[in-house]
Amino acid sequence: MTQLPVVPNETEETERKVRPPADPSTMAHRDLLDGEFWRRIPAFKDVDEATFLDHRWQMKNTITKTSKLLAAVESLASDEFIADADKGFEIAPMAVRVSPYMLSLVDWSNPYSDPIRAQFLPTASTRLPDHPKLTFDSLGEQGDAPVPGLTHRYPDKALFLALDTCPVYCRFCTRSYAVGPDQDMVDKVSLKASPKRWEVIFEYIASRPELEDIVISGGDAWNLRAAQIEALGNRLLDIPHVRRMRFASKGPAVMPQKLLTDDDWFKALVGVVERGRSMQKDVMLHTHFNHPNEITAITEKALGRLFSAGVHVRNQSVLQRGVNDSIETMTLLARRCAWVGVHPYYVYQHDMVKGVEELRTTVFTAETIEKHVRGSTAGFNTPTFVVDAPGGGGKRSVHSYEHYDRTTGISVYTAPSVKPGQHFLYFDPIDLLPEEGQKRWADESEHQAMIDEALKAAGT
Ligand SMILES: *Cc1c(COP(=O)(O)O)cnc(C)c1O
Ligand code: SF4
Repeated sequence: MTQLPVVPNETEETERKVRPPADPSTMAHRDLLDGEFWRRIPAFKDVDEATFLDHRWQMKNTITKTSKLLAAVESLASDEFIADADKGFEIAPMAVRVSPYMLSLVDWSNPYSDPIRAQFLPTASTRLPDHPKLTFDSLGEQGDAPVPGLTHRYPDKALFLALDTCPVYCRFCTRSYAVGPDQDMVDKVSLKASPKRWEVIFEYIASRPELEDIVISGGDAWNLRAAQIEALGNRLLDIPHVRRMRFASKGPAVMPQKLLTDDDWFKALVGVVERGRSMQKDVMLHTHFNHPNEITAITEKALGRLFSAGVHVRNQSVLQRGVNDSIETMTLLARRCAWVGVHPYYVYQHDMVKGVEELRTTVFTAETIEKHVRGSTAGFNTPTFVVDAPGGGGKRSVHSYEHYDRTTGISVYTAPSVKPGQHFLYFDPIDLLPEEGQKRWADESEHQAMIDEALKAAGT
């Protein structure tokens, strides 16, 4: 017979477990940077608040040349750092675009350890060789594209690449195969915001009744004009089987000013969301904060305006070594997002992208961080950590691998609802592997053997 648990009689003396008062540091997510922080940057020292909040000023003063970027911070950072970054840009196949807002949030007295600097400015001295298994367009987005700029990989949803520009260019971008101006080393795929190209995509979506959910990305919806947001949004809403849409933009993280002062754009977005709601269709904004320092009092105000207008926002971060790969940072980010009304949705394992090996980390790191973030706040504000499986397997929960060898750094994933019967491999950065794993990767003849071992252990 099962013993019933003994319930103690509650008496006056019963000791109640009272949670001790919270340590104020657990509420640090509410301490948002406020004031005229941009005046720390010599180039912006005379800029008043109204000017700094003007999105036109932010756009006009966005820096697109390496020399200008380095000149803007020359008196703040050491000569050694400036020379290192100059060399970093020389060897990195990336376009430069940094908003004044982002530039002002970097701690230029410690640029090497600054999490925002690391996302936009490469340094030659920290560069690591690429993993031998790394390829351009590692997600195979082009392979799953029935028409240029539309990836239809999952049964009921598709990714619409509406344009090829962004308010900033991130070093770690997965879409470097298309986004930004051409670099010497890469011939980019053209994804211009042209009505003709869009029409082919609309027709494809309309012809596929299974498509209910469209991600509008790029590039970045921040760079669409108000009229384009309306045209695109309404055209999709008019397709009967499209029930859900998300505009994807890094804008709220890198240029929140637009939400406060670009009334046309703001109204266009809210208009599409409201029209969608009246049709029982769900239109949302997806954004991309990577570090709690990106969320300031300006962000709070800007997102508050969106929230009040009934626009819901979700966040997708990229896990980056030295930027946000710690339990403390990720917990703070989740809570700070929640504080400003943004739901943390995904944290991506860094894709296998060229030239940014120093920013990637291991699957084990992602698993460990997720374990700690989960439970620290509401479940609906807890991001899922995912690997976008190289080769087009789609997003897989990071701990759902069939096999993971921490010595070789190889993890094996399957995606039964996306590409049944196939296996997808992710490779941890070699410099973080134990010595034995590093040795095997140093020997080219071992590469296939390591992969074969992993596949066999995964049961193929
Ligand atoms: C991420 C992605 C989507 C959306 O996936 P969710 O998991 O629903 O956020 C759709 N299509 C492609 C190709 C994607 O990469
Ligand atoms: S804003 Fe997004 S699409 Fe544009 S460069 Fe950054 S990560 Fe890539």
